[in-house]
Amino acid sequence: MPALWDLPDFDAHESVHMFDDPKTGLRAVISLHSTHLGPAAGGTRFWHYADQQSAITDALRLSRGMSYKNAMAGLNAGGGKAVILADAQKTKTSALLDTFARAVDSLGGRYITAQDVGISEADMVALSKTTQHVAGLPGQGGDPGPYTARGVFLGVKAAARRALGVDTVKGVHVAVQGVGSVGGGLARYLAAEGAHLTLADVDLAKAQSLAAELGGLAVDSSAILSVDADIFSPCALGAIVTTQTANELKVKAVAGGANNQLATGPEGRILSDRGILYAPDYVINAGGIINVMRVIENADDAAVNARIDEIPARLNAIWDRAEAEGDTPAEVADRMARELIGR
Ligand code: NAD
Repeated sequence: MPALWDLPDFDAHESVHMFDDPKTGLRAVISLHSTHLGPAAGGTRFWHYADQQSAITDALRLSRGMSYKNAMAGLNAGGGKAVILADAQKTKTSALLDTFARAVDSLGGRYITAQDVGISEADMVALSKTTQHVAGLPGQGGDPGPYTARGVFLGVKAAARRALGVDTVKGVHVAVQGVGSVGGGLARYLAAEGAHLTLADVDLAKAQSLAAELGGLAVDSSAILSVDADIFSPCALGAIVTTQTANELKVKAVAGGANNQLATGPEGRILSDRGILYAPDYVINAGGIINVMRVIENADDAAVNARIDEIPARLNAIWDRAEAEGDTPAEVADRMARELIGR
C-alpha cells in the first residue's frame, strides 16, 4: 500500500487518525481535511469495504468534500469524515460504538460527527452518551430533508431566473427524479408556485400518487432523463450526469438535491458547452447540513432558514464567475470553496 501522502485523494489533509481496538473489533479512520473555518464536521459512515485502502480513500475524499460543502454553506465548520470498517455482516455492537465515541472524543472537539450511511439516529444517541462532539441529534432541528428541499427549491428558482429569464417558476416545466424526502418536498414547493411538473421514482406508484395530488405527470424512472423540460432536478441517485446523459438532456438547467451528480467531473464541461446551466450539488443541497450543524452554530430555526436563503446568491456568484472565467460552475465552486478554506 502506498504511503498516505502518495494516495491520489490525499490533499494536504490536516490529520488522519487510525483507530484499532481488537477487543471490540473497532477499526476506524477519522480524517480531518481542514479546520480552517472551525471544527472539522462531517458524518460517520459504517460500511464494509473491500480493503483498508478503500476505507482510507473514502475518508480522505469525503472529508475534503465536507470542507467544500461546509465552506460554501457559510458555516463556521471545517471538513471531516469518519469511516468505521464494518465486517461483512456489518456487526455493530454497543461496545464498538462506545469505543468509536471515545475515539471521536479523543480529538477534543476538532472533529464533530453526524449521521451518514449505516449509522442510525439511535446510534447517534448512543455516541452522544460518551462524547459531546455530535451534531444532528433528535430534538436538534430534526429531519434535514425538508430543509434541503427548501434550499433546492430556492436554487431551482435561481436557475430558472438565470437560464430562462423568469422571476417565478409559474409555468416552468421541472422534471424531478426521485420523490422522496428532498424531491417530494421540492415538488410541493414547485406546485405551490404553479410549476409544471413531471415526476419519476423507481417506486412508480409513489410518483403517480404525488403527481395526482399536485397536478403533474408521472413517468417511468427510465424516461425522466429524456423529458423535454426546462429544468432537470435530480433528487435520487448520484452519478446521474454521465457523458451520455449530459449529451442527451433536453433541458436548460440541471438543479437538484442529489449528491455527486456529475459521474466523474468532466461532464460539467459537456453541460456548459451545450448551454445547460448546472447548479453545483453541494451548494444547492446545503440546507440539510446547515440544519444539522445548528448545534455548532448555536442557530435557531430563523437563523438556519436565513442561511438557506443565501443559497441563490451563492449560486449566482458561482455562475457569474464561471461566465467571466470560462470555467464550469462545478470547477468554480471547488475553487471558491478552496479559497474559503485558505487553500
Ligand atoms: P429518499 O430516500 O427520501 O428519496 C429518494 C427517492 O429516490 C426514493 O423515493 C427512491 O425510491 C427514489 N429513487 C431511487 N433510485 C431512483 C432512480 N433510479 N430513479 C428514480 N427514483 C429513484 O432520499 P432523500 O433524503 O430525498 O435524498 C435524495 C438525494 O438527495 C440523495 O442523493 C441524497 O444523498 C441527497 N441529499 C439529501 C439530503 C437530505 O437532507 N435528505 C441532503 C443532501 C443531499
